[in-house]
Amino acid sequence: MSVAIPLAVPSLDGNEARYLQECIDGGWVATGGPFVRRFEDAFADVVGRPAVSVVNGTSALHLAMVDQDIGPGDEVIVPTLTFIATVNPVRYVGATPVFADVDPSTYTIDPASVERLITDRTRVVIPVHLYGHPADMPALRAACEPRGIAIVEDATEALGSRGHGVPCGTSGACGAYSFNGNKVITTGGGGMLVADSSERLEHLRHLTLQGRVPGSVEYLHDEVGFNAAMPNLAAAVGLAQIERLTDLIERRRALAARYTEALADVPDLRFCTEAPWAHANFWLMSVLVDERVAGRTRHHVAQALSDAGIQTRPFFHPVADLDLYRSCLREETPVARDLHARGLSIPSSASLTREGQDRVIAVLRG
Ligand SMILES: *Cc1c(COP(=O)(O)O)cnc(C)c1O
Repeated sequence: MSVAIPLAVPSLDGNEARYLQECIDGGWVATGGPFVRRFEDAFADVVGRPAVSVVNGTSALHLAMVDQDIGPGDEVIVPTLTFIATVNPVRYVGATPVFADVDPSTYTIDPASVERLITDRTRVVIPVHLYGHPADMPALRAACEPRGIAIVEDATEALGSRGHGVPCGTSGACGAYSFNGNKVITTGGGGMLVADSSERLEHLRHLTLQGRVPGSVEYLHDEVGFNAAMPNLAAAVGLAQIERLTDLIERRRALAARYTEALADVPDLRFCTEAPWAHANFWLMSVLVDERVAGRTRHHVAQALSDAGIQTRPFFHPVADLDLYRSCLREETPVARDLHARGLSIPSSASLTREGQDRVIAVLRG
């Protein structure tokens, strides 16, 4: 059956087509084009830190690991409940991921678990602002800063979210963002990095440009870099998207509020809410299904929605429970496992209509 209501699709009805046409008319489709700096400047205005664009969010996290100069023997603490792209970059540089459990109300990395996992080898902690809800950055900073442990934020899902008034991605050494197709804004594929100093930012930019000595025409390179700069075509779409960020987030927040309100009386469903100190972008609204109440599981709910042409996704599989990473598990992660067993992401597109949302709500009611 075809999907009538998808989980999350982009809204491309602003200046996207116009800016793409400008790229084609001007003949500049590749890296280094005029839209790249315009997009980076607009992004920096939104989050309040200077920014450098990259090919995708995974690459952003990888470059942040390279910038931290970590490798074999070093440990990086990550939440187990996340998309695998948080973790793989730790492996790319040969370091060891160590998996923390998550908080049952925000679904983000549990600072108490982090405290227990810190060793002499811990170099970096990567909090993930899962589904757009901020992680508790003051608690993580209190655990990391006195010990000289760096924080690299996986803010790939959290553009526009704030915790304790601070934009997600701007509390640590680096913040990584993604513009993959279903994120809050998209460039087709793309990402952004922000840093705590202009020196670090320029180093990250250097890494995206094959480590080429700035200004050198003679192909002089002083570091092993990467081909990771964003093309002008993608940046053109990104600029058009970020112009509409406030509206796109407001629409997602309104959807989330309406799900929560309309289904507050359904005893086996619990919706993700904001912590009192948080302002979330509600990238993906999610629901926890409690089987003990009425006997229905998240599988039943997902099937009923699917039968009605409505797309959902289970929560991420705890990464430490995959064969690939099981050997890196040092303490049990019951909260992440429980959330994975009960959690479902539900349609959250900014373009979802009231009628469409009513259909989702009717099926969720059961
Ligand atoms: C999307 C995502 C990434 C990776 O971003 P890409 O642009 O797809 O490479 C990393 N971490 C999390 C938590 C994500 O959701």
